[in-house]
Amino acid sequence: MKTNISWNFDNSYSRLSDVFRENINPVAVKSPDLVVLNENLAKELNLNFYEIDRGELSALLTGNILPIGSNAIAQAYAGHQFGHFTMLGDGRAILIGEHLSSENKRYDIQFKGSGKTSFSRNGDGRAALGPMLREYIISEAMNSLNIPTTRSLAVVKTGEEVLREKILQGAILTRIASSHIRVGTFQYISARQNINELKTILNYTIDRHYPEIKKSKNPTLELLIKVIDKQCDLIVNWMRVGFIHGVMNTDNMTISGETIDYGPCAFMDIYDPKTVFSSIDHLGRYAYCNQPSIAKWNLARFAECLIPLIDKDTDKAIDIATDQVNSFQTKYEQKWLKMMRNKLGLFSTDKMDNSLILDLLTWMHRNKVDYTNTFCHLMNSEFKKENIYNDLDFKNWKKRLKERQLKNNTSYHKSLKLMKKNNPLVIPRNHRVEEVLKSAENGDLKPFIKFLNVLIEPYNEHKDVSNYQSLSGYEANYQTFCGT
Ligand code: AMP
Ligand code: MG
Repeated sequence: MKTNISWNFDNSYSRLSDVFRENINPVAVKSPDLVVLNENLAKELNLNFYEIDRGELSALLTGNILPIGSNAIAQAYAGHQFGHFTMLGDGRAILIGEHLSSENKRYDIQFKGSGKTSFSRNGDGRAALGPMLREYIISEAMNSLNIPTTRSLAVVKTGEEVLREKILQGAILTRIASSHIRVGTFQYISARQNINELKTILNYTIDRHYPEIKKSKNPTLELLIKVIDKQCDLIVNWMRVGFIHGVMNTDNMTISGETIDYGPCAFMDIYDPKTVFSSIDHLGRYAYCNQPSIAKWNLARFAECLIPLIDKDTDKAIDIATDQVNSFQTKYEQKWLKMMRNKLGLFSTDKMDNSLILDLLTWMHRNKVDYTNTFCHLMNSEFKKENIYNDLDFKNWKKRLKERQLKNNTSYHKSLKLMKKNNPLVIPRNHRVEEVLKSAENGDLKPFIKFLNVLIEPYNEHKDVSNYQSLSGYEANYQTFCGT
C-alpha cells in the first residue's frame, strides 16, 4: 500500500497458543465500495485516511488489501445461546490485528461479514448492508450516550449478494473493540479442561484489561469481581436509556464490559418492562426487565470457568465464587437506584425514593407512556409531546418530585444539570432507524447521516432534535431479527 495510514499493530492475541484461534484471511470481495467512514473515530485511533483514495480505502476496509503488520485470525469461543451450551467462534468475522493509538491504547480491528472460517458451521460468513449499518448507527449512538460499547469505523458494500429470506446487498463492518474476549472465550477454554490454557487466557485478560489486579492475593477472584462490577454498570446504563440488547447469550458478553453484538437490539419507546423485540425470543428471556437477572446468570457461567483457579479446594472455590455472583443483586439494586435518582435530579438519599421511582414507572406502564419523552418532560414542562402529561395522577406525582427535590440542599439548577446528563433527548427510535436504513439500502445515505449527527449528541438541544422525538410512525409490534 502506497499511503501511510499510521497503523501501529501489535497482535498479542495471535501470539497466544493456536488453540485460541484459527489463522485465516478475509475472503476477498468482488467490488468493495465505501458507504460510511467514521472520521471522528479514525482520529481517536490516530489513523489517517485523508490521503488514501476511495478505491484503495474500500479495498482496505473489506480486507481485500491487508495492511503490513496485521495478522488475520478468527477467534475461538463457545457460549450459552438461550441457555444451551454450544461451540461457536468467529464464523463471519476476522480480527486483522490490534492497533495501538499514540496514547498506547489497544484496539481490536475486526471485519464483520468477512467470509467463511472454520467456525462458520452452516453460515456463509457474510453480512448484509442493512444490519451492518444498523450496528454502525446504534453502536455510535450508544457511545454518545456514554455507554461502553464496541465502535464502528466503517461500512463497505462488497458488491456481492447475500441470500437471507430475500437477496440482500453484502457489506462489511469494521468493528473496533478494546478486545473481543467474551464470557464465551473462557467457556471455550474451560471446556477443554486444560489448566495451563485457562491460566494463559486468565493472565492475558488481566494484563490487557485489569493490570491493577495482577499483584493482588487472588487475581482470579479479583477478575471475577471486576467483571461483575463492569457488567452491573453496563446493565444499569442500558436500563437508563431503555436499551434492550435482545440476545444476551454468554458469547455476546464481554469481559471488558463493552456492549457487543448489535443483532436484534432495539430501544423501548412505550414503557413496558416486558418489552421484547427479537423475533426469536419467544419466551422473553431477554426482555427489558430480565436483563439484570440474565447478566447475573451469565456471570455465574463466567465464575464456573474460574473455579479451578480461585482455590485449590473446589468446595471452597465454589463458595467464594457463589458469594460474589450473588452480590450482583444488591450491587445492581444500589446502582439502579442511584441511576434513577440521577434521572430525576435527586441528590443524597431519602427512604421514600424507591417508591417515588416505582410510582412513576407504574404510571408510565399503566398509561402506555413513552419512557424517554417522560424524562424530557420532567426536565422541561414545555415538552408536551403527549397529552397524557396533563393527567391528574401524573401532576400529583410531579408535586411529590418537587418536594423531594427541595430536600436536595442544592439549587434547582444543579438538579436540572444532573438530569440533563442522564436523560437523553433523543434515542435511536426503531421506526426512525428502519426509515433511514431503508433509504440507505436504496442508495440514499442522507437521512442516515442526518440522524447519526443528531444521535451523536443525544444530551444537547439542537434544531433537528424535535423531529426525532415524535412517536408518529411508531410500530406497536415492532420486531427485530438477528441479521445473520
Ligand atoms: P451472533 O448471533 O452474531 O452472536 O452469532 C452467533 C454465532 O453464529 C457466532 O459464532 C457467529 O460467528 C455465527 N454466525 C452468525 N452469522 C453467521 C453467518 N452468516 N455465517 C457464519 N457464521 C455466522
Ligand atoms: Mg455474537
